[in-house]
Amino acid sequence: MLSNLLGHLVDSCSLFEQHCQFCGQRPAPHGVCQCCLPALPYQITARCPQCHAQVNSGHAPCGDCQQLRPAFDRLLAAYDYDYPLDGLIARCKYGPQPALQGALAGLMRTLLQRHPALPVPDLIIPVPLAAARLAARGFNLPDALADALAVTMRAPLARDLCWRKRNTVPQAGLDRTERLANLRDAFGVKHRCDGLFIAIVDDVASTGATLHALSKTLKKAGAKRVEAWVLAKAHFRHT
Ligand SMILES: [Zn+2]
Ligand SMILES: [Zn+2]
Repeated sequence: MLSNLLGHLVDSCSLFEQHCQFCGQRPAPHGVCQCCLPALPYQITARCPQCHAQVNSGHAPCGDCQQLRPAFDRLLAAYDYDYPLDGLIARCKYGPQPALQGALAGLMRTLLQRHPALPVPDLIIPVPLAAARLAARGFNLPDALADALAVTMRAPLARDLCWRKRNTVPQAGLDRTERLANLRDAFGVKHRCDGLFIAIVDDVASTGATLHALSKTLKKAGAKRVEAWVLAKAHFRHT
């Protein structure tokens, strides 16, 4: 009774009203208002069945995947990395912002609406940051995204199973080959994952090099299937 009353009081108090993270104008209890939600970027188009890149025909893997098969079995994305989502994800890198992180975690669940028959994995693993970078930033957005999926899917979250061994050079500005070299042997795994279906979760996939590197580590540790689930897939075209 008392908690109901308190809840009602909190709901009706404008002090606690959260505004939309995108437009900043309309109230949005989950962080994104009803006008901004349908306007978020996602092209309905053919996708590479392995890396989710936009392609002309979605039956065969794209040129990149044929050239170098990613270690993950497939990548799925809730959105495309475009305006205005790109700016909000970038803003998250500057420090903890619980309301924004919460809104992005809510958007991660769109992946489950796009793929209603998605099998429940044995483990969900957020892509880890190196310890020094995590300490500097204070949080890791993929943790919040993975947590939202784990709760919704009722799948176990394994936040500490993997770690990033070293502080790799920031990936921006490197081409795909350089990115792969930069990430070689970048991840460690604490124990065997024999026969497991693992979903790894990240905020943005551009070339997929990070997800490839982590997937490779997990496959070496015995994982049977690794899928990469991301909030946003960047259009990254190679020549
Ligand atoms: Zn809005
Ligand atoms: Zn591909």
